[in-house]
Amino acid sequence: MGEIIRVLIIEDSYEDAELLTQELIKGGYDPQIVVVDTAEKMAAALDQQAWDIVFSDYSMPHFNGGQALLLLREDNPDLPFIFVSGTIGEEIAVAAMRTGANDYIIKGNLKRLVPTMARELDQAKLRREHRKSEVMVKHLAYHDALTVLPNRTLLQDRLQAAITAAQFGNYPLALLLMDLNRFKEINDTLGHHRGDYLLQQVGLLLSDILFEPNLVARLGGDEFAVLLPRLTGKDDIHAVAQKILHALEKPMMIEGLPIEVELGIGIAIYPDHGANPETLLQRADVAMYTAKENGNGYAIYEEKLNQYSPRRLVLLGELRHAIDKNELLLHFQPKVDLESDCVVGVEALARWQHPEHGFIPPNEFIIPAEKSGLIKPLTQWVLNAALQQCHTWQQQGIQINVAVNLSRRNLQDSQLPDLIAQLLLTYHLEPTCLGLEITESSIMSDPTHAVEVLTRLSGMGIQISIDDFGTGYSSLSSLAKLPVSSLKIDKSFILGMTENKNAMIVKSTIGLAHHLGLNVVAEGVESGDLLEKLSAFGCDEAQGYFISRPVPAEDLTRWLRESSWRLK
Ligand code: C2E
Ligand code: CA
Ligand code: CA
Repeated sequence: MGEIIRVLIIEDSYEDAELLTQELIKGGYDPQIVVVDTAEKMAAALDQQAWDIVFSDYSMPHFNGGQALLLLREDNPDLPFIFVSGTIGEEIAVAAMRTGANDYIIKGNLKRLVPTMARELDQAKLRREHRKSEVMVKHLAYHDALTVLPNRTLLQDRLQAAITAAQFGNYPLALLLMDLNRFKEINDTLGHHRGDYLLQQVGLLLSDILFEPNLVARLGGDEFAVLLPRLTGKDDIHAVAQKILHALEKPMMIEGLPIEVELGIGIAIYPDHGANPETLLQRADVAMYTAKENGNGYAIYEEKLNQYSPRRLVLLGELRHAIDKNELLLHFQPKVDLESDCVVGVEALARWQHPEHGFIPPNEFIIPAEKSGLIKPLTQWVLNAALQQCHTWQQQGIQINVAVNLSRRNLQDSQLPDLIAQLLLTYHLEPTCLGLEITESSIMSDPTHAVEVLTRLSGMGIQISIDDFGTGYSSLSSLAKLPVSSLKIDKSFILGMTENKNAMIVKSTIGLAHHLGLNVVAEGVESGDLLEKLSAFGCDEAQGYFISRPVPAEDLTRWLRESSWRLK
């Protein structure tokens, strides 16, 4: 028995079909043949089963080879199609090849049939494999590997297409942008695997509740987007946003652990808020920021948001210039020792005086800078400016340490210690003049790198303190294993000390930290009462509005001369 081969023959002459079959059997095949001679019969045969090859006569009473070819190519781009005809002329043959036939054979020359078929079967196999890998490559380029959802590129393509269609059909569409609140903390605490799993679950849930033609995409990190390409009315938008929020009310179960997922959703509408993908994405982003700030769950873009809110993306573009053009400046806030009443140092806090938007608070540009990678040049600028000021004070006879805040990304920068060493040399400063403040979550997001960088810095003699202590999830004992010398208790605990519970937390944190050999600083001290209480609890140092607000360098110089707190 030869190789089984499924052959569809389009032929009106029974004898010709029989000749063809015999030729295949002679060639060592076991052909399974169906012969058709009309378009309807051919369509039915194609529907019924898969085929390996199609042979077609050119002219028949009720059908012709050209129509057969068109019909075949609708759904079968790779199936070999060969004309076997007595009447076909050179010109028609060439035209047929152009429209997608694989070859043609003259009925009088059937000995070519088997070798031609063998060659075409091989090539069809190659084409199918090629197509498969093409589809895969395309899939990879347009989908996110973790959640298998469409990625940013595909969303942008679809958004563009949807805008064109909406313009034409004169109806609105909406873009929803969302990211998970506190995902970073979840990721840091539970580990990346479980963080990834959570993102997959969120992706699945969104795809489950939003069906075609709506598109769910993952833009990267913990950011998802939903495109509602065709709205009948704007009420639909509220319904969809509420549906998403409602679906996420139930905690996600991750390895038996219930995890609360909260989202902020920002919404932009075509044509009201923009007419191209970039603008709609930017507007949705601004609205998302507002949703998160208000804790409302979702917000629809409004022009006034763009005026008063961070203008994140626009500002990011300007931040780079701001660093070069010296629009950034530092304010300094003193820290005092509670036992000696001496000023022990200042914390340098970045400020941005924007020529148009005026003063922009650090929380509005530090977080976007962290996300975009601009935090590196920003931190370099702050380090340089802070150490330069420290040098200036030394020349005026004022010995005071400066502390600079570092971000998560700075701790992954293995060049940071060298850069700091270089700056200390430039300004003729001892390493002990510099302190670095780092939040616990920024260490825990990549402990290996962070510990490496911190160990080198502390080895150089630089003081390192944990900032905003109490807001993350890490334990005191795990922090004490790090090369840190002090701990800043977050201002939310200090400001809340009028409540008994918070006072107890502060008191026991101070006790534990001392036990572990750490110095304790309280930040956010707004009253003399608090200062006294902290003193009684044994807190080492304090910082806050009661002592001084963060002020420009010249004001601080004056304050140092005039205030009741003394320099050492
Ligand atoms: P932080 O490091 O926790 O800085 C302390 C913040 O608390 C400052 O806010 C300061 O002005 C404020 N503060 C000080 N005393 C009091 C008080 O008595 N009561 C209250 N309610 N607040 C007080 P600011 O300057 O707005 O900075 C906010 C955050 O921005 C900083 O928090 C820090 O995380 C970040 N940041 C500021 N400058 C830089 C920088 O140069 N680099 C990095 N990476 N982050 C910075
Ligand atoms: Ca700080
Ligand atoms: Ca702090």
